[in-house]
Amino acid sequence: MGGRDSTMVLLDKNGIRCDGRKIDEPRKIMIKAGVLKNANGSAYIEFGDNKIMCGVYGPRDVHPKHMANSSTGILRCRYHMVPYSVSERKNPAPSRREIEISKVIKEALEPAVMLERFPRTAVDVFIEVLQADGGSRCAALDAASVALADAGIPMRDMVSACAAGKVADTVVLDVNNEEDQAGQADMPIGYMPNLEKVTLLQLDGIMSPKEYKECIETGIKGCKIVYEIQKKALNERYFGDDHK
Ligand code: ADP
Repeated sequence: MGGRDSTMVLLDKNGIRCDGRKIDEPRKIMIKAGVLKNANGSAYIEFGDNKIMCGVYGPRDVHPKHMANSSTGILRCRYHMVPYSVSERKNPAPSRREIEISKVIKEALEPAVMLERFPRTAVDVFIEVLQADGGSRCAALDAASVALADAGIPMRDMVSACAAGKVADTVVLDVNNEEDQAGQADMPIGYMPNLEKVTLLQLDGIMSPKEYKECIETGIKGCKIVYEIQKKALNERYFGDDHK
């Protein structure tokens, strides 16, 4: 896929991965907050070759009205891949996978967002994946969390996400698309770095209890790296380039 060689070695003798990274090295991550003028909050992320835009609206009136909850606000999320986000045109209609990812992102954000402060309202999170390259749910969650903060929605903590996985019998940080497809396991993790709580944990693949533990620990290290980049994006947005 993507013009890369499908026969490539996933992990060479020197512990170098198919894209040149070390086993504990994430892909290059760039986040920019406040990129859309018509949304209440927004963020754009490049996570390796993933390119994802997120816009947030709210808190605002709930339509349809019967969805409103008189004791708390509600969070709604839509994760969507545009037709040109993958090498073969993707049908723009929501797939089962996109519906699942929308649900897990919503559930991963809910513990962080103080919805109880806004009864009868909704906060809407719209995620558009412009280019996907493995790990897009984590990258989308990272952008969504920054966009919520940019919208000024009160939050208990950021949600920082990164996957770990198993490739060539080795636990690695931040699985890319080739590793996801040819590797042995993929574990996306969402984590609140200050509260030290996991809000998203999925596992596709098989691993031993020891590898499972190592994978969670590795993924959380990745989340902490992402957290610093999220904070930097918000600092740049509100304090310009001179922040420390
Ligand atoms: P995640 O992006 O969170 O890792 P998956 O493991 O389901 O989610 O998908 C892995 C990768 O597979 C995606 O990031 C994307 O690059 C690719 N992919 C997903 N859906 C499609 C599709 N319909 N056509 C081609 N590639 C796809």
